[in-house]
Amino acid sequence: MGENKDARVLIVGSVAYDTVETETGKVEMALGGAATYASVATSYYCRPSVVAVVGEDFKDEHVDFLEKRGVDLKGMQRKKGKTFHWAGRYLPDMIGRETLDTQLNVFEDFDPVLPDDYKGIDYVFLANIHPGLQKKVLDQVTGPKLIVCDTMNLWIDIAREELVELLPRVNVLVINDEEVRQLTGDFNVIRAARRLLADGVKTALIVKRGEHGSTLVTREGIGVAPAYPVDNLIDPTGAGDTFAGALIGYLAAMDDASLPSMKKSLIHGAAVASFTVEGFSLDRLRETTRADVDVRARELREIMITE
Ligand code: AMP
Repeated sequence: MGENKDARVLIVGSVAYDTVETETGKVEMALGGAATYASVATSYYCRPSVVAVVGEDFKDEHVDFLEKRGVDLKGMQRKKGKTFHWAGRYLPDMIGRETLDTQLNVFEDFDPVLPDDYKGIDYVFLANIHPGLQKKVLDQVTGPKLIVCDTMNLWIDIAREELVELLPRVNVLVINDEEVRQLTGDFNVIRAARRLLADGVKTALIVKRGEHGSTLVTREGIGVAPAYPVDNLIDPTGAGDTFAGALIGYLAAMDDASLPSMKKSLIHGAAVASFTVEGFSLDRLRETTRADVDVRARELREIMITE
């Protein structure tokens, strides 16, 4: 069976203006946010429907950009105040990063209300945002086939209980290696992932390991996928969000969340994420087509050493 471009993915998460500094330069108040990155990645495969909030300062050109990508913004509220703002600086290794500033702004009292036609969407991505907001979205959906959840160190620090309560309701937790260690207190990523499965994550852990790729851990076994080897890393911001957005976009388009399909989705995630990091903000993705993504997905399969 082929891909269904009309399949839908419900995405809740931040829509943001980011100030980001890396070894290669700096951008100020650039378009960012977990839901933004994820929805653009999903749009390579099918139709993302976003639930989020922006402030009065959110620019029309950014609404236009997302709509041209086929992102359904019916569930994106516009409220008095400023759009979520995040500022971060990458360490010289371009892996570690410091958060310099997080201003929740309009997310502070955001009440996500799903438009009626979002409620029955079968594929749901809880992109990075306060776990309390992720829960409010889950409370409104009517039995999706697959729920994928992301989070970050901040929420593990300040909203651990709400996050842990959410886990038995999600099928797949997508999390980076540092966060899975922080969440479980176990330095061994595989053991940590298995512990989260034992504690209630329904189907799988997908641990993102940056340039070292990703590891899929289920009760049945383990899968590993490489990252696409990038030699012009400009800004890692959004790599994780676009990895997950492409992954769920592929699963929704195939309407197949089986283990073999999930393994394939890791390759699509890696391909899209590799473009994200070749520019600041969503700059590189603006010029990247689905055909470009498919070339990298194919290359990834070719360069993998299998015996
Ligand atoms: P990633 O690099 O994939 O971890 O995601 C980076 C994006 O996450 C940036 O565009 C930020 O706007 C967004 N972000 C940073 N901190 C938070 C937060 N506390 N909640 C939600 N989104 C955030």
